[in-house]
Amino acid sequence: MSEPHLESNVLLRSLEPASKARFAERFQKFELVRGDVLHNLGDEVEWVHFPRHGLVAVMAETVAGESVESGMVGREGALGIFEACGTGQLFTRAVVQVGGEALRLPAASYRELFLESASLRTAVHKYVEFLLLEARQFVLCNALHTVESRLCRAILDTLERSGLDRALPVTQESLAQMLGAQRTTIAACVSKLYRDGVMKGGRGSLEILDRPGLERLCCSCRETLRFARGELQASDDLSCEAVLS
Ligand SMILES: [Zn+2]
Repeated sequence: MSEPHLESNVLLRSLEPASKARFAERFQKFELVRGDVLHNLGDEVEWVHFPRHGLVAVMAETVAGESVESGMVGREGALGIFEACGTGQLFTRAVVQVGGEALRLPAASYRELFLESASLRTAVHKYVEFLLLEARQFVLCNALHTVESRLCRAILDTLERSGLDRALPVTQESLAQMLGAQRTTIAACVSKLYRDGVMKGGRGSLEILDRPGLERLCCSCRETLRFARGELQASDDLSCEAVLS
């Protein structure tokens, strides 16, 4: 595995050169196929996946088997990076929503690299901080913002995290699951966006025709989270690592 492959994942890009070289020795390429399940609730962590492009939906499930998307992981993040260094168990189901490619390594190898690399630990801390902030923001979003504005935000987030430009291979069903909304509500919002010329539909996909228009229709959470992500990425390392070094 050559080091340039690591650059398309934001977490791996932020590592120091020595850590990149150690990762590059151990990674293998892994194809993300739409609909494939990477892990199920209750599984032990076997692999840690860092998407280069494509998108994985993280689903929370009820005991009765109902599920709602509780997060998505694309090239900005990774799957299994917390659990591999914690309980070793997974409490969600991960399903590939947009096909692509990930780099993966066994959880045991990841744990060794995590202990060796201060820059990896810093990157993971910042990622955790962002995910917590995002979860809190989405509580506000679900309570205060309209489904249409949340849908527009989710479509743009999905495009960016999966590394796509205009065409997004998602169905209205998966958008409804992503937002925890009724399929009929999503269908009405999508029809309006078609009529307004913001996007058009294909077979199991959406094509963005007017990206500035879609940006304008997004709820304010998009800008809040973009600002927070920028601040986190630009921030100095104030972790215990930096204090102790
Ligand atoms: Zn919002």
